[in-house]
Amino acid sequence: MRSLRWKLALAFLAVVVISVGLTAYLTNRGAAREFSSYVLESRRNYIDQIEEGLGWFYENNGSWTGVQNLLDGLVMMRGERLVLADSSGVVVGDTDLQWLGLTTGRVGLSASTRDIFVSGDEVGEFYLLSSSMMRGRGPMMGGPVSPQTPLFFQDVQEQELLERVNRSLLIAGVVAVFVAIVLGLLLTRQFTRPIQGLKNGAARIASGDLAYRVRVESQDEFGDLAESFNSMAASLDSSEQARQRLFADIAHELRTPLSIIEGTVNAMLDGVYEPDQDNLKSIKEETALLTRLVADLRDLALAESGQLKLEVESVDTAKLIQRRVSQAEVMAREKGIGLTTDITGGIPSVMVDSRRIEQVVANLLDNALSHTPSGGSVVVTVTTAPGRDGYPVDAGHILVSVADTGEGIAKEHLPHVFDRLYRVDDARPREKGGAGLGLAIAKQMVELHGGSIWVESEMGKGSTFSFSLPII
Ligand code: ADP
Repeated sequence: MRSLRWKLALAFLAVVVISVGLTAYLTNRGAAREFSSYVLESRRNYIDQIEEGLGWFYENNGSWTGVQNLLDGLVMMRGERLVLADSSGVVVGDTDLQWLGLTTGRVGLSASTRDIFVSGDEVGEFYLLSSSMMRGRGPMMGGPVSPQTPLFFQDVQEQELLERVNRSLLIAGVVAVFVAIVLGLLLTRQFTRPIQGLKNGAARIASGDLAYRVRVESQDEFGDLAESFNSMAASLDSSEQARQRLFADIAHELRTPLSIIEGTVNAMLDGVYEPDQDNLKSIKEETALLTRLVADLRDLALAESGQLKLEVESVDTAKLIQRRVSQAEVMAREKGIGLTTDITGGIPSVMVDSRRIEQVVANLLDNALSHTPSGGSVVVTVTTAPGRDGYPVDAGHILVSVADTGEGIAKEHLPHVFDRLYRVDDARPREKGGAGLGLAIAKQMVELHGGSIWVESEMGKGSTFSFSLPII
């Protein structure tokens, strides 16, 4: 029994069978009880009426003479026998005419159904029995009868009623079970259809069809589940697309320097280029570019998977940044850019991996210098937070920012500049920029240190890249 549909259908059936069974049992018991009390009550009334009729007769006649004519009118139930004896025990009336003139002792009548009193005197007694005529057999044929005998009819009627009730209950039960099976199957089909849909969807996704989505058919929990399933499929789809894009981008980044190297070497082998200093230098530069690209990709992969080990030590950040700025001064001077530092005193030492933080500062400085035209300026500021209003940094951090007066970054690019392999201008010449890994690496490194990194920029005015590091 593995199918949920059958389990639910059986559960429905079980509920119906149990409730119908219980209802049948209780109805049966209730009907029997009600019927018994109804019969007893009406029987008591019936006996009262006979007693009243006979009493009235005696009162009016002063004796039982002629009472036989009255008896048939008093017996209302078919098959019942009314026997009346006078105060001396002689039968003076019998609807079966059999015992007239005999004594009650003789015919075996003992406890009377009711004694009849007129003005306080007992004037007779009567017995209600089963008619020997009706039954034609049994203990009534002249033999003694038990006082319970009249109840025979009650039993028979009760039995009949209960049988009728039971028959109706059985029919109702069979109909209910049939309806339960049909309804159960229909309802469970309704319940299991979305589950079946999800199962099929999961199989399609597993087989690689990441664009597959299940139909959201209802607003209930199944609908929520289908929506969650679809958003899971969408996120799988987009990570798969990102993975494919990443591979394509990496291949693209590797291909350019490799084809330059290959072309130059081929040209040298064919004697088109001289293997001179210039050509060899160009090969060396491309090789260095490749090495850096591979190292960057490796760092990024390690950082993203949380496997990059930081060699943390207490570092004088002001000094570290000053050193890095000094190294960039040559390039700034060549490009005619003013490079200055603004280090407001008392910057505490922080626990960082100095090589990685230097890498972050170097990337930001490289970007600032290459995006700032001649005559512009780059300012590196180091302060303890909160250094400037509106900066999303808590106290207890140091804040480093690199501000340039370069071209700026358009609003639509700002949210993506820290994405790996993202370049604002994909078509720009390669020598003007890298593979779009610098900022992605900077972000990973800063975050690994427990800090955050962000950018503010205005087109035509310049950009400010800032990062924070917690002071531990
Ligand atoms: P790349 O190594 O290609 O420069 P980055 O990750 O360092 O890649 O930068 C991503 C993108 O952000 C680059 O395409 C660049 O155009 C833009 N960018 C980075 N820094 C600046 C800046 N200071 N001014 C203007 N644009 C910048």
